[in-house]
Amino acid sequence: MAEYEFDLFVIGAGSGGVRAARMAASQGMRVAVAEDRYMGGTCVNVGCVPKKLFVYASGYSENFDDARAYGWKNSGANFDWPTLRDNNAKEISRLNGIYRNLLNNSGVTVIDGRASIADPHRVVVDGRDYTAERILVATGGWPFIPEIPGREFVLTSNEVFSMEAFPKRVLVVGGGYIAVEFAGIFAGLGADTHLSYRRDLFLRGFDRDIRNFVRDEVVKKGIDLKFNHQVKAIEKLQDGSLLVHDEDGSSLNVDTVLYATGRKANTVGLGLEQQGVVLHKDGTISVDDNFRTNVHSIYALGDVTGEPQLTPVALAEAMALVKHWRTGNTAEIDYNNIPTAVFCQPNIGTVGLSEEEARDSGISVTVFKSEFRPMRHTVSGNTERTLMKLVVDSSTDKVIGVHMVGDDAGEIIQGMAIALKAGATKKTFDETIGIHPTAAEEFVTMRAPVGS
Ligand SMILES: Cc1cc2nc3c(=O)[nH]c(=O)nc-3n(C[C@H](O)[C@H](O)[C@H](O)COP(=O)(O)OP(=O)(O)OC[C@H]3O[C@@H](n4cnc5c(N)ncnc54)[C@H](O)[C@@H]3O)c2cc1C
Repeated sequence: MAEYEFDLFVIGAGSGGVRAARMAASQGMRVAVAEDRYMGGTCVNVGCVPKKLFVYASGYSENFDDARAYGWKNSGANFDWPTLRDNNAKEISRLNGIYRNLLNNSGVTVIDGRASIADPHRVVVDGRDYTAERILVATGGWPFIPEIPGREFVLTSNEVFSMEAFPKRVLVVGGGYIAVEFAGIFAGLGADTHLSYRRDLFLRGFDRDIRNFVRDEVVKKGIDLKFNHQVKAIEKLQDGSLLVHDEDGSSLNVDTVLYATGRKANTVGLGLEQQGVVLHKDGTISVDDNFRTNVHSIYALGDVTGEPQLTPVALAEAMALVKHWRTGNTAEIDYNNIPTAVFCQPNIGTVGLSEEEARDSGISVTVFKSEFRPMRHTVSGNTERTLMKLVVDSSTDKVIGVHMVGDDAGEIIQGMAIALKAGATKKTFDETIGIHPTAAEEFVTMRAPVGS
């Protein structure tokens, strides 16, 4: 008789947990996964998926305007929040079902409930004990709201997709990609939108040109950017609206405040401290190259272990971990050149080093840039512009950074990421024939450097 009930017990059926559970089961392991909220985790329920659907929804308002110059005589299009909210909820519950079926069909035992670790080989869910040779913690992250008076009145990305009513006036607090995306969503859907960020420019870590360019584009969409702005307290007024007080003594009256001020590792009540599992200062779980914690039988991956917090990274880690268990070789993950998109309007797509990162690490770079009005808007009259940028290592001619702000930047940069992974040089880009007429062809026709 086997010593343990399961070979692997996964805590959390999010991006990483589901992939690890299915892969491990397909290798013949006896696998259980516990989930206490929703199948598919953050990405499916309150992250990537609903966010992208809402971005689509918010783009229609401009599309209706743009269409007029193309001869479409539309008028009187009205946005109906309950339709979007409820159709989104329907789609998410369809996806929840798919995830559950995927697990069931892989032979994984699905346990609904909150899990905690009782000892290095024992997990408890709702008072029932399960034993496992290995335990994998894939519990993701949770929105963080700073301790300010009135924090109980604010929303986070967990609640925003299911709001009862759509607000007329919104303040989004934060400077990361989630804050910028939600400001775009609210503005596109018709809310009077403000964004508060405590530093001088949002999207820290992205290329400086991209950040400046997005700032200007976002302002064109009517979003009021409040940089170097610090919310001090939030007061609920009798009419139900919120009065936001800032450090400078001014105030802003809105209907909704959305905090997108970062996420913390979701480890509360897991029993990690009792097992002596080492955490980093920021609360994320410390793991080695094979996703193993300092406790031999306990592993962790995905957002709960820290940056980069992206679904494809959690998926890649899950696959690398199961492969490591199968082969005994070190889990192979290349964290370089991870492409990413920000679904603000227009989108950002980026892969590789920013110009600043390259210069700071002592690389001598040649920079190519192209900024233009996209073809669609030559007729529509929309003032939105596109920016494309290549960062090239001057000594090797290798392209080490590709950045874009413009329609479908995420789609375009995915292909660029393959080129970077393959070690493409600027000469390779130059020798590639463009697809005409597209915006993407600019990437293979940038001839004159703007700086080195
Ligand atoms: C608003 C928003 C937008 C995003 N947009 C993107 C995007 O466009 N692209 C992208 O790549 N990434 C995006 N992300 C990030 C992405 O969602 C995460 O990187 C990804 O979900 C991480 O997967 P994970 O498996 O580590 O954790 P999660 O997907 O968070 O899964 C963790 C699961 O564990 C469960 N759980 C936690 N504790 C317990 C417990 N004790 N017992 C049982 N179950 C438990 C949770 O309920 C959850 O289902 C976004 C995130 C947010 C918040």
